[in-house]
Parts: sequence; structure tokens; C-alpha cells
Amino acid sequence: MRTYHVRTLGCQMNVHDSERLAGLLDEAGYLPAAAVPDALGRATEAGDGGADVVVINTCSVRENAATRLFGNLGQLAAVKRERPGMQIAVGGCLAQQMRAGIVERAPWVDVVFGTHNLDVLPALLDRARHNAEAQVEIEESLKVFPSTLPTHRESAYAAWVSISVGCNNTCTFCIVPQLRGRERDRRPGDVLAEVAAVVAEGALEVTLLGQNVNSYGVGFGDRGAFADLLRACGTVEGLERIRFTSPHPAAFTDDVIAAMAETPTVMPSLHMPLQSGSDRVLRAMRRSYRAERFLGILERVRTAIPDAAITSDVIVGFPGETEEDFRATLDVVEASRFASAFTFQYSPRPGTPAADREDQVPADVVAERYQRLVALQERISTEENEAQVGREVEVVVGEGMGRKDGATARVSGRSRDNRLVHVALPAGIEPRPGDVVRAVVTHGAPHHLVADSALRTGHLPVRRTRAGDVWEARRAEPAPETRVTLGVPTVRR
Ligand code: SF4
Repeated sequence: MRTYHVRTLGCQMNVHDSERLAGLLDEAGYLPAAAVPDALGRATEAGDGGADVVVINTCSVRENAATRLFGNLGQLAAVKRERPGMQIAVGGCLAQQMRAGIVERAPWVDVVFGTHNLDVLPALLDRARHNAEAQVEIEESLKVFPSTLPTHRESAYAAWVSISVGCNNTCTFCIVPQLRGRERDRRPGDVLAEVAAVVAEGALEVTLLGQNVNSYGVGFGDRGAFADLLRACGTVEGLERIRFTSPHPAAFTDDVIAAMAETPTVMPSLHMPLQSGSDRVLRAMRRSYRAERFLGILERVRTAIPDAAITSDVIVGFPGETEEDFRATLDVVEASRFASAFTFQYSPRPGTPAADREDQVPADVVAERYQRLVALQERISTEENEAQVGREVEVVVGEGMGRKDGATARVSGRSRDNRLVHVALPAGIEPRPGDVVRAVVTHGAPHHLVADSALRTGHLPVRRTRAGDVWEARRAEPAPETRVTLGVPTVRR
């Protein structure tokens, strides 16, 4: 029986694709390798748990993607020298982009597959073993919608459900449309069936996933489809929390705001990518909204959902960005009052239009602006989190998130508005991952809340959930060394 380990670099889309790769390997008879010392009795340098097959699911959106990949592959080369039967497979966006170039640079790689053909992984592994030769197979377009593939879910309580793949936009800094193709939407009935299935397995939270969820439905001629889908998910019994990512400000319409506000199980959190506060830069990025529209959306969301926590992505130093453009970004960030933001220093991605521009901003200027942006957002995040002190929060306990903090035992999880919350545990109370606790916020830090009210009262209301039962049942299963991936018990479909 061969074992596998999937290592994920990149975004939620990749995390979910990795669940599918694991599901395919489960179905082909492989077993997940535990993140424990390897067959030689020591933790492997690569942390692959001594797996016979290591799959790296790559990303090419983030900076230094290739450097990271080849760094990983360099480590694995040493491991493979000691375990010659081991196979290495590389998939994901960078594989789609580099193709056979990966095997040319790292000839010890056995399999390369792309974003459109996850399903071929087990067959390619067999063929590579049989022929003793590297196999590279890349498709130019999607043949099988990935959601029809078996899925090995990492979490007992939260599940990703894809509603679309690909993107029809042409943001000039982004490589996604070239690597993931044009948008393909799943039919609502298929999405809802999957949502109902994961809830039946114990999940209490679902995140609907697409590169641009707001254009969902355009492919089958229904522009109101995303709002309708949110409302329909709200009728699934047992589903307590609905989230989605990522929306796009250009396509974000009021029917979606109304659906969010009127569906109690759609959570009061929204990730709305700003990218730049300068209209001139937005135009150069080929993002069709402007700062005024962006702020207008936030205002309408907050009017309809007063306790919404809004987060964002912001890029600093896009080619041609002037000090005046950057100040416009600071102004919009100040006005937006994001609960948190992912901030990026622009760096050219080969193959994107922005990479070829000659007016790249010098690295030291980008770095200096970045520090100012981070300082601003840290202040806002701290103020926003401090404003939560005294509020009662409902927290779903996360997996692998229990910890000792001095004499205080705490668990961590996400509140309804998706803030990370650390909760003190009175003696004798041990909620399981997936259980729900309620506590009062006692401290707000830039990146998390502390809810230690139970230290004063000795009481922490815990609601035991079916997700917690599933987690416990999985933990009690025999042969844990083969049933655990990355230390996290799993739910299978
Ligand atoms: S909307 Fe723009 S940034 Fe997002 S995936 Fe599509 S092209 Fe990339």
C-alpha cells in the first residue's frame, strides 16, 4: 500500500484542489501519510511524513513562486536519494505555466500535470513508475469540472464548495485567466447538492469558492444567480455559516447585499479586493470600478449589515504608481476601515501585461510605501478590534488550535465575522474542533481578539455540534498513523 502527502502552495483554490488530489489518491488505493517521522525513524527534511508519493500543488500568483517550488524540490531530491521508490508530482498553476520546464530543471520529478487535468494524477503516477520515465501532461482547457472528482476534506466542520472555475477578467497584474482559463459556472442544483452533502457529513460552515463569485450565472444567462444561490444555501438545514470568496467590486450588486442581509446564515464578513485607491492605477490594472464605487459598496454593505467586518487586498507599487496615486490608496484604506487587509508589494509576474511595462517602480520606493500602508492598516485593524471589546462573540473552535498561554489554556477559532479569537478555557471545559463557544471579548490586538471572560466567571457556554462528534469519531478510528494528514483528522466524501 503506497502512501501520499500533498503539499499546497497558494490560495484557497489550491487548498481545495489539493483536497481533490487527495480524494483521487484515496480512491486509487493510496493512504495519506501522517506528518510523523519517516521510515528511517526521523522527521524528513521535507516534512512529508515518509510518503511514497509527494504531490506539490503550486501557485504562480505569489512572488517567488518558482523559487519556492525549486527550493521544495531541492529538499525532496535529497529525500528521494535515500528512498529511491518515492515519486514526486508537481501540479497547479506553476506546472500549467512551466510544463516540461519543471522536469528540465529538476529531472528527479516524476509527474507534471496542470490545472485542467487533476484527474489524471493517479494514472500518470502509474505510468511513470511503469515506464521509469517522467510524465508531463498539460491540458489547454477544462475537460472535467473538478467538483465531480472525489474529495478528501481536511476539516470536519468547514468545507469549500466551488461554484465556478476560471476568470473572464483581464487584470493586467494577474496570471490566473491564462492558467485557469475562462470562467465556467456550475449549475446551482449541483452546488446545492454538494452543500447538502457536506452538511450531512457534519460540516456546519461552507465557503462558496470562485475567482469572481459575482459573475456567477453569466455563463448560463442568469445575472441574479449568485444572490439566489446565497438564499438557497440559507435553506439548507444544519448549515450554520455561509461564506464566499472572492467577490469583485465591479460586479458586486445590491441584490447580493440584500441576500447577505436577509439570510441569517450568511455571515457578516466580506472580503472585497481594493487593489488600489487611485482611479488612474485601477484603469491601468484594467479593473473597471473606481474608488468612489468601491466606497459606495462598503457604505451600502454597512447600512444593510451594520456589524459586517470587511477585509481586502491592496497592491503597492503597480507600474507607474506615483506618490499621488499611493496617497489616494492610503485615503481609500483610511475611509474603508478594513478589519484587516492582505497587502502586497507589486512584483512582475512573467506572462502578464504589467510585467512588460517600462515604468516599474523602484524596489526601495515600493518598500517604503508598503511600510506606510502596513502601518496605517495595523492602526485601523487595532482600532477596529479594540472596538470589539465587551462584545459577545460566537466562536467555532478550529482544528489544531488549542494552546497553552502561560497558565491559561485557550482554544482558537473564528467568530461570525471571521475574526480570529483566542478563548480562555476554565478548568474541565474542553470543546472539540467544530464545537461552538460563546465568550466576551476582553482584548483587541491587530490580528486577533482575546475573549477571556470565562477566566472571571469560570463559565464558558459550549454547544456540542455534530461537526465535533464527527471530529471525535474520526479521532477514535483505528490506525491513526494512516488516517491523519498534517495532524488533522479528515472527513471523506
Ligand atoms: S478578477 Fe482579476 S485578479 Fe481576480 S482572478 Fe480574475 S484576472 Fe485575476
